[in-house]
Amino acid sequence: MLRRTKIIATLGPATSSPEALESIIKAGVDVVRLNFSHGEAAEHIARAELVRELARKQNRFVAILADLQGPKLRIARFVDGKVTLTPGQRFVLDARLDKEAGDIDRVGIDYEQLVNDVAAGDTLLLDDGRLELEVEQVVGLEIICRVIIGGKLSNNKGLNKKGGGLSANALTDKDKADIKTAAKLGADYVAVSFARTPEDMHEARALLKAEGSNASLMAKIERADLVHNPEQLDAVILASDAVMVARGDLAVEIGDAELVGVQKHIIARARTLNRVVITATQMMESMISSPMPTRAEVSDIANAVLDYTDAVMLSAESAVGQYPAQAVEAMARICVGAEKHPSTHQSKHRIHEGMARIDESIALSAMYAANHLKGVKAIICMTETGATPLLMSRIKSPLPIYAFSRHHETQHKVVLYRGVQTIPFDSDQHPNEEINQLVVNELVKRNVVTDGDLVILTKGDYVNAQGGTNTMKIVRVGGSIQ
Ligand code: PGA
Ligand code: MN
Repeated sequence: MLRRTKIIATLGPATSSPEALESIIKAGVDVVRLNFSHGEAAEHIARAELVRELARKQNRFVAILADLQGPKLRIARFVDGKVTLTPGQRFVLDARLDKEAGDIDRVGIDYEQLVNDVAAGDTLLLDDGRLELEVEQVVGLEIICRVIIGGKLSNNKGLNKKGGGLSANALTDKDKADIKTAAKLGADYVAVSFARTPEDMHEARALLKAEGSNASLMAKIERADLVHNPEQLDAVILASDAVMVARGDLAVEIGDAELVGVQKHIIARARTLNRVVITATQMMESMISSPMPTRAEVSDIANAVLDYTDAVMLSAESAVGQYPAQAVEAMARICVGAEKHPSTHQSKHRIHEGMARIDESIALSAMYAANHLKGVKAIICMTETGATPLLMSRIKSPLPIYAFSRHHETQHKVVLYRGVQTIPFDSDQHPNEEINQLVVNELVKRNVVTDGDLVILTKGDYVNAQGGTNTMKIVRVGGSIQ
């Protein structure tokens, strides 16, 4: 069975070799994530080229997501690489300390501003919440803390405040430089970490445009202040092409108890607002060192699929884990299993709402007909920008949507949309009256449809015009198709 939910895998040391990359692409990866928190520009560029080459060899479409580090706060480094903190002990975050001089009593931080953002009584979480400090006093550039939950703490670990409220801007100077690299390596998607306002997204888009990139923009939703402000959250979603439920930092900021409710809200809002949504972080955490997921992990992925996320993501599992290909295979298997559930086949999406656009009316009508007319096996969508398949894939359906496009950019953007498959097709190369027959023939050739099946086709009068979709046609395979 064709999988509808897409899989993103973060690349890292475990997936650097051509063999490892090839095996995760074979296992079904749709998008690779280049994590700009690690590595140099030249490494990312080389990785992107290798991914493209291997995907081409396998006749697959794999998109590239460049994930900017953002204002993720980190501690500096220890003389011995790490320390072990004991509950009850004092520990100082010292902005004046030499970056390499950390020890059991104190460690440096990169961000001086932190001293203005925290006060006595605040809780600081380190390493995605594994260690907990309580701020006792802020003196000059020193934050004096008491260790609440101790443990091993190594160089450069992330730091965040419980409840959120750290004031750093979403786009740092490093991000601005990395945007140039993302444009240079031809990223299909660029993610903004700790997005806070629509302006953060506008700024990133303007910087990308200035570099000649038309990449789609993804806001990582991981700030407490954002998810606690529903209007602002909607505005950030609307300013983006896609959003990521970035559960690692989000759970640190809002607590793990509220996380699932917030995740469901973000998925629903993104889909309602015609945006793509990804569910990320710790989905297969145990597979970092085990060839098989836990039942709880299976359940987590399946529930995101049932809530109709567009994609699920692997982080450390594919970046540094021992079983990257098995993690992708397991994810693919779980997605396909969950997609059998009838609740993902019927849609009430916007059934009581008016529509503003012609292409939207065609997209939604096509899906309504596809879900209700017996015998329909596939939807074909002739598309320039991918806008129509995006609208279509907001509707729950068990049927595959085939986006036929002549543009490399569109072919790679649509791979992230749930239920959408790419087929390269240059309508300029064929007489208009032959196109319908040709695209249906293509699906016959791929064993998607056979004689007697129905196919729904959408396009514009002027096949190559943007936003021009105004036609829907239902055709029977086998006959002569005009
Ligand atoms: P990160 O983002 O891995 O870049 O921190 C994802 C998350 O916070 O969940
Ligand atoms: Mn994060």
